[in-house]
Amino acid sequence: MTVNINWDHLTFSLTPTASQFVCRYERDKGWDKGEYLPFGEFLISPAASVLNYGQGLFEGMKAIKTPSGGVNLFRPEENIKRLNAGGKQFFMPEFPVEEFLTMIPEVVRRNQDYIPPFGLGALYIRPCLWGVSAGLGVKQADDYLFVVYTSPVGEYYKRGEKGVDLEVCHTATRASPQGCGHIKCIGNYAGVLHAKLNAHSRGFADCLFLDAKESSYIEEASSSNFFAVFGDTLVTPQLGSILPGITRNSILRIAKEQFKLNVTEKKITVDEALKADELFLTGTAAVVTPVATLTSKSTKKEYGDGTPGPVTQMITERLLAIQRGTYPDEFSWVVPVN
Ligand code: PMP
Repeated sequence: MTVNINWDHLTFSLTPTASQFVCRYERDKGWDKGEYLPFGEFLISPAASVLNYGQGLFEGMKAIKTPSGGVNLFRPEENIKRLNAGGKQFFMPEFPVEEFLTMIPEVVRRNQDYIPPFGLGALYIRPCLWGVSAGLGVKQADDYLFVVYTSPVGEYYKRGEKGVDLEVCHTATRASPQGCGHIKCIGNYAGVLHAKLNAHSRGFADCLFLDAKESSYIEEASSSNFFAVFGDTLVTPQLGSILPGITRNSILRIAKEQFKLNVTEKKITVDEALKADELFLTGTAAVVTPVATLTSKSTKKEYGDGTPGPVTQMITERLLAIQRGTYPDEFSWVVPVN
C-alpha cells in the first residue's frame, strides 16, 4: 500500500495509521488476548475512572528506519517496566512484559507503510492504559483498556541549525515531592499546559519547571529531561519528582561508559544552569535537543553561538548511531523489528 504522506515535511502531530492494538482487562478474568483493529474511536462510559479521576497512564516509543532499510525499536522493555511501575501507584493491572515485547513489533509491522524513510522521522508509538469501568466514588476501576496506536512524526521541537529557546517557569510547578512526577500519568500534562502555552506565546519552545518545595532547582521541561554541560562534566537533575527518562538513562550511560565524562545526578539551580557551557533536553520525541538560550525573569543567556555545543553534538551523534544500528550496540538496547 502507498500512503499519501509528505515525508519531507513531517511535524510532531497525529496522522492516523492503519492499525491499533486493543486489549481489555476485567477484574475477574484478567487480560484478554487483545486484537489488532483499524485505528478508531471507542465507546467509554462518561463515568469511567480515566475520564473522572485521571486513572490513566501512557508511554511514548519510536520505531525508526535504519540506513539499510531495517526497522529498529529502542529499549522497549523499559517502556513497559515504567508503565507497570506507574500502574502500581495507580492501582492498575500490570500488562505482561513478554506480551508487550511481541505485540509492539506486530503493531509496527501492521503500520509499516507509515514509517518515515531513514532520517526523515519516526513511527511514534503510543501505548495507553486506562481505567474504563463506570463508578461514581473515587476508586480504582474494575476494568481496563490497553491501547497502542501510532503516528508518523517529525521533530518534536521545531528548530533550524540553532537550538531551542527556553524559559524558566516561575509561576507553576509540574510535580511535588512524593507526588506523581515520576509517573507518566495523563494529569501531569494537562496540569501545566497553561505554563507551556504561556512560554510558547512569548516565543519560547518550552519552559523548564522548578522544584515545588524551594522553587530553586531545575527539574525538567514539559515532556523532556534536562542536562547541563560544564567542561567535561555532565549534570542532570536527580530522580525523584522528574520522569525517569529512558533517553536520560541512555545518555548517562553513553557519557560515562563510552565518553568517560564525569556524570552527576544532582540538584541544579537556575544560576548554575545560566553558567553552563551547554544545555540540552532529552526524550523519545525530543531525542537530544540543544538549547540556544535560557531566559529566567530578566536574565537571558545564549550558549555559544546558539548552535549545538561539542558535547551535545557528540552525544547526539552517538545516541542516533546506536539507535540506527550504525554504531555497535554494546548495551543491547536496539530491538530490530523483523
Ligand atoms: N519528561 C517528561 C515529562 C516526559 O513526558 C518525557 C517523555 N516521555 C521525558 C521526560 C523523556 O522520557 P523518555 O526519554 O523516556 O522519552
